[in-house]
Amino acid sequence: PLDEAGVQDKAPKNGNSNSTTPDYRAQAQRLRPQREALPIFTARDAIIDHISNHPTVVVVGETGSGKTTQIPQYLLESGFTTRGQTAIAVTQPRRVAATSIAKRVAEEVGTPLGGRVGYTIRFEDCSSPLTQLRFCTDGLLLREILADPLLRRYSVVVLDEAHERTLRTDILLGMLKDIQRERARVAELNRSAQQPPDEPRADHRSRGTHVKFGEEDAEQPAAAAVADAVHGDVTGLDDLRVVVMSATLDAERFSAYFGSAPILYVAGRQFPVTTYYTAAPQADYLDAAHLAALQIHTETPSTSGDILVFLAGQEDIENVERLLVDSAASLPAGVPALLPCPIFAALPQAQQARVFDPAPGFTRKVILATNIAETSLTIPGIRHVIDSGVHKVRGFDPRVGESLLVEPISKSSARQRTGRAGREAAGHSYRLYTEADYAQLPEDSVPEIKRCQLTMVVLQLKAAGVRDPMHFDFMDRPSRKALRHALLELYALEALDDRGELTGLGRWMSEFPLEPSYAKVIHASAAAGCTREAIDIVALLSVDSLFYVPADKRDESNAAQMAFRSSDGDHLTFLNLLRAFTKAHGDKDWCQEHFVNRRNIKHVLDVRQQLNRLCVRLGMNVERSCGSDLAVVLRCFLAGFFHNCALLQPDGSYRSLNGSQTVHIHPASSLFGKKTPAIFYDQLVFTNKLHARAVSAADPLWIANAAPKLYGRLASSQVH
Ligand code: ADP
Ligand code: MG
Repeated sequence: PLDEAGVQDKAPKNGNSNSTTPDYRAQAQRLRPQREALPIFTARDAIIDHISNHPTVVVVGETGSGKTTQIPQYLLESGFTTRGQTAIAVTQPRRVAATSIAKRVAEEVGTPLGGRVGYTIRFEDCSSPLTQLRFCTDGLLLREILADPLLRRYSVVVLDEAHERTLRTDILLGMLKDIQRERARVAELNRSAQQPPDEPRADHRSRGTHVKFGEEDAEQPAAAAVADAVHGDVTGLDDLRVVVMSATLDAERFSAYFGSAPILYVAGRQFPVTTYYTAAPQADYLDAAHLAALQIHTETPSTSGDILVFLAGQEDIENVERLLVDSAASLPAGVPALLPCPIFAALPQAQQARVFDPAPGFTRKVILATNIAETSLTIPGIRHVIDSGVHKVRGFDPRVGESLLVEPISKSSARQRTGRAGREAAGHSYRLYTEADYAQLPEDSVPEIKRCQLTMVVLQLKAAGVRDPMHFDFMDRPSRKALRHALLELYALEALDDRGELTGLGRWMSEFPLEPSYAKVIHASAAAGCTREAIDIVALLSVDSLFYVPADKRDESNAAQMAFRSSDGDHLTFLNLLRAFTKAHGDKDWCQEHFVNRRNIKHVLDVRQQLNRLCVRLGMNVERSCGSDLAVVLRCFLAGFFHNCALLQPDGSYRSLNGSQTVHIHPASSLFGKKTPAIFYDQLVFTNKLHARAVSAADPLWIANAAPKLYGRLASSQVH
């Protein structure tokens, strides 16, 4: 039998396999009692039984009951996979959840991470052909369908955190339903073909290899087109089992969607949690969160448990972290130490893992998280929860485009957050909003598919052979308007032709795990001879912020940033920063001196490396550089971002081209306060008004040339 040793060289990524081979088996033995103490353990046989006997099963269980870490292991132990042939995929909405859960499960199974248990997320693969339990993001599995339309490597797909109803989970639900139907059909054909030995076997190879996606008749369901396009042998292909897991009680909808799939309820364990509200609304929830954490720390003994703070995003987390680090340095005598532990995607693995480790000595941890800690991750030791009451959501308005919004959470989220304080003993939940505000919150969040931009998923549906995304089997149907907008946008990007068919460029763009606009920029860079710079800038735009601005050193930070500033705007400013960083072999001190967010720039380097690899695979010359003629790169950006442009108005404001909205340049932008005839931007953020982030100057003629069908009039009207 093959041994884990065969994949050892893939494993060291997470840093827990050191030179002396750890005794994985002993570790698994040690964790065994913990596994068996989980509420779900008593339901083990019933769960396996149901999954054996039904194509789809819905599992509902309170957060922490053991769904995510245990059910995949039960399946593994019960022979649902064959090493080297089939695996189990477990999807998560967030990267951090996929990686940290994989790490935990590898420990419980007793295998190096990347061996029998691994993960694959965008820009990072820690798995091998022998991986049998693969944790991945929902977006990644969706991409896998493009390469493997029947998901034949998988015997089971576990869709975790389905209650979150992320855009990609929703699309996966529909695709999996189709794939399940098609695999059942193929499996049936295989079975009947095996019976009369003299009859020719159903041979899908001879029918399929030349059929391209999307060239069949319009009536054909997605998976049928897909199955015809399957290369190779489909004999032996079995049914696909789907397990849908949810932390809230909305299971009937999932069950109904999968033809009355059985629902299993797993009881949880919950201790009482006392909830406190603020007397008055808080002007600044970051300050309020910082003060609340300090107050809990100084007024309750540290033995009363760690603190978990829910914030909206990485920027929030880093701000509160800095405030806490300062306060932690000047705690009164006798008060134990305070250790802020942030957790977000751009954080290196080792630091992410820190939130799960017990704090040393009498130190108390303050974990700073987004809604990832709501239901995806269970962090041991939490007894105090601080709830900012907000989260970051993607919003979309066809007149404005996509925007990131900090919005109030739902009641259901608030309850989940509160629940995290009562996992191990009675706890406390501090809501940084009033009781009256709580009463105003919506019961549940709107599924993402109903409120965000669909361009990328529609491109993926098209590339997966779905002829008419308008008639896709959505669990919740997005508005026709939003779908039409996505189709038009893809048409404007030349990913679809005027009959709505995928173009060669469209298929090429679908290879990128990026919004189609970025892929278009990279495509344009080939002809313009600036692929090096295009990839650099796309990678730079993948993080929230490159600089950090400490509240007490605003001027110094701004002065440091001036060194990189380009008069053309942020895209080239970011590029200057990356070039300077590379030239100086930027280390920790360099970053500190220049107020550069080191975590984020490291993430940029990772993303760049992955994009380079992908582009090389697609035959591009990634070293082609435009040197100092940087206007060329900016023009390439317009090939993808012509819909994110605004023109200067006589009154000095900027008005968006596609929706006639007033757009303000974000104060953090290098173009803030500057006037230039036209701008383009990476995204819009709505706080009290619409702010454009990552903004650069554009020539209106470039915009006209980038999208002549939409904005050709600019070429004639803008003759100043
Ligand atoms: P569910 O998916 O039902 O919310 P999980 O399977 O994620 O539950 O977690 C089950 C239990 O496993 C948690 O209650 C927690 O005690 C433990 N656990 C999970 N991840 C870790 C970790 N990284 N470190 C320590 N304990 C963990
Ligand atoms: Mg879970």
